[in-house]
Amino acid sequence: MRFPLALTVKIARHIIKHKVRRTPRFALVLQLEPLHTCNLTCTGCGRIREYSTSLKDMMSLEDCLASAQECGAPMVSVCGGEPLIYPKIEELVAGLLRQDRIVYICTNGMFMRKKLKDYLASVYAPRIEPTLTRLLDEKLISGKDAELIRKGKHDGPPAIKPSKWMYWNVHIDGLEYTHDLIVEREGVFKEAVEAIRMAKILGYQVATNTTVYKETDVKEIEQMFEFFSSLAVDGHTISPGYDYDAAKRDMASRLGRKPEDFFLTRAMTIEKFAKIQEWGERFTIFGTPVYQEFLAGKRELTCTAWAIPTRNIKGWKAPCYLMTDGHYARYQEMLDKVDWNKYGVVNGVARDPRCENCMVHCGYDPSGALGTNYHRGDNWKNIRYNFAAKPKPYSAGRQVNAFNGVSIGKGHLAEAKAAINTGLAGAKSAFQNNGGAGGACGSGDTSQRDELLAKVRAAKNP
Ligand code: SF4
Ligand code: SF4
Repeated sequence: MRFPLALTVKIARHIIKHKVRRTPRFALVLQLEPLHTCNLTCTGCGRIREYSTSLKDMMSLEDCLASAQECGAPMVSVCGGEPLIYPKIEELVAGLLRQDRIVYICTNGMFMRKKLKDYLASVYAPRIEPTLTRLLDEKLISGKDAELIRKGKHDGPPAIKPSKWMYWNVHIDGLEYTHDLIVEREGVFKEAVEAIRMAKILGYQVATNTTVYKETDVKEIEQMFEFFSSLAVDGHTISPGYDYDAAKRDMASRLGRKPEDFFLTRAMTIEKFAKIQEWGERFTIFGTPVYQEFLAGKRELTCTAWAIPTRNIKGWKAPCYLMTDGHYARYQEMLDKVDWNKYGVVNGVARDPRCENCMVHCGYDPSGALGTNYHRGDNWKNIRYNFAAKPKPYSAGRQVNAFNGVSIGKGHLAEAKAAINTGLAGAKSAFQNNGGAGGACGSGDTSQRDELLAKVRAAKNP
């Protein structure tokens, strides 16, 4: 099965329960942002800009757990910011698991090995020596790390343990060169890969989380799936990034520039995702085949943003993960007060201009599971996709030239600086501020990232 049976049953029961009760709107996945602090400053990250005045604030553990209870979503995606910076992350994960939720920890991977070492120290016994030897052989821990692990750690919060109800969901936006460029720090891809390898050795479930941008090379995304499949990653989530900035539409109308000069339009998304169904056969892509058909431009769906609500320090963010028209104190209050008919695209017409080019996972993947715009056979299609044999790890993916950046002395900073020095306007600003949005945990205005990638590529291939 692509997604484990127990987890599938849990989600199916939740949907059936609400369908029987005729609940008009309900949550499938909670995007919980306990804090917006991050150790990275990805080009154009929306979260660290939109919440720049509250970066030091964080939700209390009690508030986080109460939010999950309040909306009742069977899955909780703990994101941010970087959730591993949250001081009570261990207690939060344990609390959500105690509530019988499926937990995704959406991380950039930089602190993941530390948490894995904490886990090893918490369970250390001589019987895990072979595991330590393997980790040492594969250079995933140092001799000093092994010594610390052997001392054990039995005080402090309970470590994050492997569980069939939990996934590490690691932000990966390309192979080394591209990923490090996007996150604006060399070595991040390598660290994320090492964390993933270590987590797999320790028996955790791991997924990757990728956002596709205007400048994303589709061939590279395919190679990225091949590479991570060879590491026996358990699944992949992939979504188009998208730019809803109304100011750009205004610029387009005033300056006569085409929308595609600025952002990922629906047509461009469909072009990028033309092979999504083929990828779904080759790799364990999470998400319904109905959503995949939508991404490939083969059908329409209506946005169901209320099914993946976002809760953060300011409250319940409406209408969706991307746009903020308000924050509400309660999930039900948000459901009741937001005029949901104002959003999304219906029959090709955007009900809100900012929705015009949106096809993102958090607005439309639940639509595929909930049967909005139901076509005969959709349920069977979803069931067959999930119950079909999980694609085998693609062992040839080890041949992919994944370390094509700093590991071979070709770091993004050198390329980016070269681009700046050639006088290509725009690249510099992307490295100097955090404006815009984007990133697996960001959202929205991706133009700075796109411009940066375009300019660096132009500098490389004049
Ligand atoms: S269509 Fe996209 S931007 Fe609009 S409400 Fe839905 S998820 Fe948000
Ligand atoms: S996109 Fe995510 S990892 Fe990057 S700076 Fe923003 S919150 Fe941090």
